[in-house]
Amino acid sequence: MVDLQGQYAKIKDVVDPSIEEVMNSASFINGPKVHQFQKNLENYLGVKHVIPCANGTDALQIAMMGLGLKPGDEVITADFTFAATVEVIALLQLTPVLVDVDPVTFNIDIDAIKKAITPKTRAIVPVHLFGLAAEMDAIMDLAKEHNLYVIEDNAQGIGADYTHQDDSKTKTGAIGHVASTSFFPSKNLGCYGDGGAIFTNDDDLAHTIRGIVNHGMYERYHHDVVGVNSRLDSIQAAVLDAKLPHLDDYNKARQNAARKYNEAFGDHPKIIIPSGRTQCNGICETCDCHVFHQYTLNLKEVDRDALVAHLQEKNIPCGVYYPIPLHRQKAYADERYNEADFTVTNSLVKSVISLPMHTELDNEQIEFITSTVLSFIDRNS
Ligand SMILES: *Cc1c(COP(=O)(O)O)cnc(C)c1O
Repeated sequence: MVDLQGQYAKIKDVVDPSIEEVMNSASFINGPKVHQFQKNLENYLGVKHVIPCANGTDALQIAMMGLGLKPGDEVITADFTFAATVEVIALLQLTPVLVDVDPVTFNIDIDAIKKAITPKTRAIVPVHLFGLAAEMDAIMDLAKEHNLYVIEDNAQGIGADYTHQDDSKTKTGAIGHVASTSFFPSKNLGCYGDGGAIFTNDDDLAHTIRGIVNHGMYERYHHDVVGVNSRLDSIQAAVLDAKLPHLDDYNKARQNAARKYNEAFGDHPKIIIPSGRTQCNGICETCDCHVFHQYTLNLKEVDRDALVAHLQEKNIPCGVYYPIPLHRQKAYADERYNEADFTVTNSLVKSVISLPMHTELDNEQIEFITSTVLSFIDRNS
């Protein structure tokens, strides 16, 4: 699904010296590289504060801790996302409220959020799923109206632009009250181990969060709140700082691959190609609403699982993100949920398939993948 070796070979000459600097300084924790990367990422995103931490799941948890959410507070998020999003809500003894997604964008459905808001609701967690910016203006409006926090799960969307109703643009992760991201190796900006970060434009919240990531310490050995130990280590920061200048090119490479996939699949009656926020399918020249963390097709009347098996046979990697709706996972099932409220997710889990998507895909690979998919579908219909 990804080609991290191919990508590393091309940037070895900047990554290796950056790591070597850390080795020579022996400043492995909270070293200058961490600070340097933090500043560079703040500039890139146009956000006031980046607080690095150990991984994207911690980032979400710490964001919620920073907002002071209390057990019993309801937090609305998408039924169709990676489990980490709902996991931290449950872990903090908040009440997860899963809602359905939009059938075209796969992102959290605005009307479903509206229906789910109660007097106990405190926050909404939109996920920029597969790299496509969620409908942030509508979500921020709802949050303002109901006095809620918005926590963006930007683990899959780093580098994407959200275009507001007035045509101005903001990077995803710089719009909500707070955001989280992951630097897991296969993410759009990945390190060579685990890593994550929290973003916010709120000075007070940033201060609170900087203490939480460091055992609740604001002054050495004074623990004012219960915190955690969650750090981005200097070696990972060195990798990330060397890769950050390439992020836009990496996302462009993903968009180019998506364009070629779209050209091959766009006219097929049984294949729905990914959507952008507008009519652009995510790949027009004027917006970066989609950074294609995943390239995901929605199949109509195709035996998805047979296609998966066929691709595996042909040594073409593929993935099903995600095969089970969160509201039906044992850990998160709840009698409050009504199947009729999850028709989109219940259908997507059976019809989506994600194809190889990374920065190193060449025309020959894409041609082999698309022709194999198309001939299977045409032969079996
Ligand atoms: C990857 C991911 C996370 C978790 O990130 P980790 O660094 O693996 O903890 C959270 N949310 C979403 C949507 C993700 O894709």
